[in-house]
Amino acid sequence: MWQNGVKRKTLEYLICPSCLPEQSCLCPGNLCFGGEEIIEGCLACRRCGKTYPVCDGIACLGKDGNENLAASPYESPQALSTYLWTHYADLFGDPEVTKAYCEWAEQISPFSGTALDVGCATGRFSFEMSAKCDLVIGVDSSLSFVATARRIMEKRHLAFSVKEEGLIESERQFTLPPGWNSAKVDFVVADAEALPFRSGSFGCVASLNVIDKTPHPLEHMNEVCRVARPEKGQLLLSDPFSWSGRICPPENWLGGTLVDRFAGAGIDNVARLLAQAAPAWTISRRGAVWWKIRNHRNHFELIRSLFIKAQR
Ligand SMILES: [Zn+2]
Repeated sequence: MWQNGVKRKTLEYLICPSCLPEQSCLCPGNLCFGGEEIIEGCLACRRCGKTYPVCDGIACLGKDGNENLAASPYESPQALSTYLWTHYADLFGDPEVTKAYCEWAEQISPFSGTALDVGCATGRFSFEMSAKCDLVIGVDSSLSFVATARRIMEKRHLAFSVKEEGLIESERQFTLPPGWNSAKVDFVVADAEALPFRSGSFGCVASLNVIDKTPHPLEHMNEVCRVARPEKGQLLLSDPFSWSGRICPPENWLGGTLVDRFAGAGIDNVARLLAQAAPAWTISRRGAVWWKIRNHRNHFELIRSLFIKAQR
């Protein structure tokens, strides 16, 4: 029986997130395989001795253990339902959904190699990318999101509840289109500021609506640039720049302030950071995508996410 576990190919990319910037290998221990995939076991760092568990096919690679990940606000059933609707509502024909994920996917040219989808949530963009390259690794700090993305990868079909009003819910279901290849997708739990991957690994890196959701956005940007290929690499960054002091103190914002290093608009500062990266990125396109969240049948949030497509 085929079981849903970490793909062997994914292991080749992994390093210890706690030892960064050192690139320290992870040694598999006590692994239990289901076919070619790892279902249970652990990955241990030779350098610092930390171990990262693989449970039910989910590798948890949070920096300094996984305690911080468990505190993620995205673990609630309501958050999961909301993101499933946002990601997949076009597949069940909901007229309210935007075409954000199709528009983002259109920015990526097909290539030979592996893509990384940072902040993959329930996996929509990773599945889109599976039609454009050899392997896609989606990472998110939410165990609930990653577990659900993996379930969709395995079953290719999901039924879930959405809130209609108050305590009233109804069911939605969807099936993945045949062009999205589950054999080319993997999902792991990790931190967007300490990506557990070797430098220069990915032919394409996407960070969609992550920059303003992380406590140290500059570290996230540096990590995105680090893991992307130094040449023939593509990058898609998109964010609404909804800075919030609850998530990230203003001194860490990459925009939205009047003074200091990152005064002005976040999108302009992000463009400047990309031009200053080593090697530098060349921006090929700037644009905006409308993205919608559904809280209940009469309550939606419409968000404009500004994007930069770049290559080097
Ligand atoms: Zn380590």
